[in-house]
Amino acid sequence: MNTDPIKCMSHNRRLNAAELEIDLFCKGIRIHESCDLARDARVFAKARAGLGSGLEIYIPGQKRIWLNVPVLENFASKSPYELRRENENYKVYHTLDKESYDIELPPAPDWYFRQTSTGVEMQKIGVLQGTYLGIYLHDVCSFWKSDPRENCKFCATGINVGPAGTDKQKKSVREVVETAQAAKAESGVTFVHFNTGFQDYKGLDLSAPFVKAIKEEVGALVGLQAIPSQELWKYDWLIDCGVDHFSFCYELHNPDEFAKYLPGKQRMITQQAFFDAMEYTSRKMGKGRVSGEIIAGIEPIEDTLKAIDYITSIGAFPTVCIFRPVKGSDMEDWPSPAYDDMIRVFRRVYEGCMKNGIPVGLTPNIEVSLIVQPTDAEQLVEPSLQYYLYKTKLALMRPLVGMIYRRAIQPRTIRADADHPPISSTGKNESA
Ligand code: SF4
Repeated sequence: MNTDPIKCMSHNRRLNAAELEIDLFCKGIRIHESCDLARDARVFAKARAGLGSGLEIYIPGQKRIWLNVPVLENFASKSPYELRRENENYKVYHTLDKESYDIELPPAPDWYFRQTSTGVEMQKIGVLQGTYLGIYLHDVCSFWKSDPRENCKFCATGINVGPAGTDKQKKSVREVVETAQAAKAESGVTFVHFNTGFQDYKGLDLSAPFVKAIKEEVGALVGLQAIPSQELWKYDWLIDCGVDHFSFCYELHNPDEFAKYLPGKQRMITQQAFFDAMEYTSRKMGKGRVSGEIIAGIEPIEDTLKAIDYITSIGAFPTVCIFRPVKGSDMEDWPSPAYDDMIRVFRRVYEGCMKNGIPVGLTPNIEVSLIVQPTDAEQLVEPSLQYYLYKTKLALMRPLVGMIYRRAIQPRTIRADADHPPISSTGKNESA
């Protein structure tokens, strides 16, 4: 292991865009005094679990690479990267390698500062995370309210949601619809992603009306990340209400690490419940419509690689977050992950998708700034016969997916009753 901090920070070469993205996630960035972020950038949104707490940027190129770069966390103050503004353009400098990279700062949209009809600033309802709209629904996660607290150790939701944070607690359907309508009209948003934290086993039931309203009154793809339910029939109901994508944040693959760092999920949910729900929905919806979300940089890397192999083997899409020791979380003093480890992880992400034929990058206009997307990780693998076959298959699928997508972003009537879950096959209404 290289223990020389200067050598750990240097590459002595120019990085490609995916390598730069990963290195920025790992090391963060310092802001030079030439920058005017209040004028030029999106606000630092302390929303949801806190992963989006940094600076939204994209690296221009044939494919824009979006990322949310850590700025506020302790490790970022020691970063070799510095953001500077020169003649109205922004560049990222690697101060040891003497390399500079052009980047763009997406400005904060006007609707962030407008109010809903209930008088709430729309950026307290939802924020852009890349090109999609991210919204935390419902009350603060119950793991933050228990005594003693049982929150996931990396998470800052309990600080970000509610009076002390930037995210409004208990948003109404009306507030969410108005914000999503503005985001679609003015920022071109076509994907709304909800997450919920733990809502005492009612997360799916509480989310259904929001899903239906987006489908009927906005017209957008809808993703839902909620704590899994053992009542698997509820996923059928949510699909009828309009969910296009489910994600399951089981975070750590090693069962001992899961128990250690996710005490609430261990005691109240179990890791197996995540696997059951993910496998059920993946079978039901087909390849690439479900994500397994994990964090790389807490458990040993071999466990992260096993997680990627497992997730892709069941036809799901690995959403891998590079661990960020977020300010205010129980792990804020942890080191950020090593660049070389993260390169291994994201190479495996692309290889896993390729090996299992998981479609990636087919849905237009969904760029996620919180993670390194498989389409970004493509730059980390050597082209091979398997690579070219996979790329050909994706190219053939693209027109059909484009057609489905164009239909999916039109408002439409949903027949399912989102306020009352159907009676389950056991004859018992299990929503209570
Ligand atoms: S389930 Fe864990 S990560 Fe999600 S909001 Fe609750 S404490 Fe945070």
